[in-house]
Amino acid sequence: MRTPAGKECKYFYGNYFRGRNVEECRLLQASGQKWSADLCYTCPVPAILQANACEFLKLQGTVTRPLSAVFQRRVRVTAFCEKTNRSVSEPQIGCGECHPLPPVFQVKE
Ligand code: SF4
Repeated sequence: MRTPAGKECKYFYGNYFRGRNVEECRLLQASGQKWSADLCYTCPVPAILQANACEFLKLQGTVTRPLSAVFQRRVRVTAFCEKTNRSVSEPQIGCGECHPLPPVFQVKE
């Protein structure tokens, strides 16, 4: 579903049927975080989902505010691979188990 920022995100839910105006972020809701529409404008999740559609990649979102008086709230994402049971440092790329890089990208020694 398209977020208030105009990006596709599978975690966004909007119900506008018959005058309703219900909007939720199911990613932040799952971790008990409070969502507001402004978070979607800087959220990294739509880009991660576009780059990596691995079924084993599980994302967890938290809302942070770096230097609370200066910066606005942002979504911080951590990723975990359910197949290899390890955290994924670069969710756009993945853990490398299912989708290894083609040989042309590997460095030979
Ligand atoms: S905050 Fe991020 S994960 Fe949540 S609906 Fe918006 S873009 Fe999707």
